[in-house]
Amino acid sequence: MAAPAGTLADNLADLQPLLTAYTNAPLGHFINGQSVAAGDGLFTNHTPIDNSPIGQVWEGGATQVDAAARAAEAAFPAWRALSGARRRELLHAVANLIVAHSRQISLLESYDTGQPLRFMSQAAIRGAENFRFFADLCGSARDGMSLPAEQHMNFTLRQPIGPVAVITPWNTPFMLSTWKIAPALAAGCTVVHKPAEWSPLTAMYLTKLASEAGLPPGVLNLVNGTGEVSGKLLTEHEAIKAVAFVGESSTGSRILRQGSETLKRVHFELGGKNPVLVFDDADLDRALEAVLFMIYSLNGERCTSSSRLLVQHGIRESFLKRLAERVARIKVGHPLDPNTEVGPLIHPRHLAKVCEYLQIGREEGATVLAGGQRSAALPQGNAVEPTLFADARPEMRIAQEEIFGPVLTALGFADEAEAIALANGVRYGLAAYAWTGDVGRAMRLARDLDAGMVWINSENNRHLPAPFGGMKASGIGRDGGDFSFDFYMETKNVCVALDQHRVPTIGKT
Ligand code: NAD
Repeated sequence: MAAPAGTLADNLADLQPLLTAYTNAPLGHFINGQSVAAGDGLFTNHTPIDNSPIGQVWEGGATQVDAAARAAEAAFPAWRALSGARRRELLHAVANLIVAHSRQISLLESYDTGQPLRFMSQAAIRGAENFRFFADLCGSARDGMSLPAEQHMNFTLRQPIGPVAVITPWNTPFMLSTWKIAPALAAGCTVVHKPAEWSPLTAMYLTKLASEAGLPPGVLNLVNGTGEVSGKLLTEHEAIKAVAFVGESSTGSRILRQGSETLKRVHFELGGKNPVLVFDDADLDRALEAVLFMIYSLNGERCTSSSRLLVQHGIRESFLKRLAERVARIKVGHPLDPNTEVGPLIHPRHLAKVCEYLQIGREEGATVLAGGQRSAALPQGNAVEPTLFADARPEMRIAQEEIFGPVLTALGFADEAEAIALANGVRYGLAAYAWTGDVGRAMRLARDLDAGMVWINSENNRHLPAPFGGMKASGIGRDGGDFSFDFYMETKNVCVALDQHRVPTIGKT
């Protein structure tokens, strides 16, 4: 992927005026079309570049969460009743504004999350695509099926479920928010969004753009705050009918418990420990590029990262040698530097977690072929060296647990059966990647790998109508195209008698 135009100095200069909105006053909420500066105290948001404060953020408490949920509830009937054509127009207007502001969004996102600008500029554009794609489905979202029976006509209608909560993580916050919010709005639901407390900047930007595009008050609300306080309150609120959540598997379990009293429908996109299988008959040059990209892009903070490399014994040594040489050349640095390929991790707590795994890997007896420690590139920041562990065994923690950083664990395998057993031998089942030149094997892998998404001879290449989601501890439900509407909408069956069929009688004799 080519570096974006401009220099670090240009980017910093363009960022400064954007930051004043966040440094001058604490960041609040957006409820019923209004900015709200109130809450249960303040917390500080930092940039991972040097851990200096960006600004303060209001913690949404019971009053703000209730106001947001009630605003979404009040706005629902009119939003639901709006024609598909009008909703389509409004969502395209949001997309247009995202495109017009994509530079601002990507600069803020990069500064807030540490994700390199080269990837964030694409992520902002992808956010607009998410809006456009679902905008075009507004008209057909309600379509159902016709299921004729002997004496009755059955047909289904879909209707939006109601106000929904969208709770998102910090890894690519803008893109992920749009991936959830756009289908919800297209379905006719109203939304309360709670972004991650470690990366709140672009969520407010999106909400303001949506309002400017003409979204009626209350249709898209935003509450800032921590998961334990505002997130929990939102998932327990009786006006909220469903929770679309992206985050850690353990948080998903908590949200299930929190939403149980009010019988919330849930959609979960959770963690992963995704394998990439490289067979000796594969196009190894292409496989090498994809392996590198899928773990070291986006700082390795990516749910679909291929964090376990399974490589066939005969090619293992040479493949790992080539890989290690390339890993050592990855440019770690300031995320706003257009040449940077890996930036700082989101937070010192996450840095500590990733560094702990670097230590655990060594203690477990894996060999460090590249990296292995905190990076000197950003002395005050949270960067780690892109790391490659080899000689791992399947039971090692670095081969089982989600590290969520630029850390790849390589294991060897003898044959297809062993590769599949290793690939499936973790609690997660989000994505799997396989590289082989044998068509039959490719089909067998597609059938036998326990993952919601399998990519054959490809990196994570997204097609928006295709289902996205995971099995096992990686999630519940699918997003994408019509699959998203299964979650944000209720399916209603209507049964109409065609003629004078016999109606059962009782109490006649
Ligand atoms: P996290 O679970 O800690 O937090 C995600 C969101 O949930 C945040 O907004 C947080 O405030 C909120 N939250 C936390 N506790 C809550 C509670 N009790 N009630 C309600 N909300 C609560 O996840 P994270 O650390 O921000 O993100 C990283 C994780 O996200 C990784 O595990 C990654 O794999 C996963 N992820 C998955 C996908 C996917 O599509 N499967 C995509 C991106 C990230």
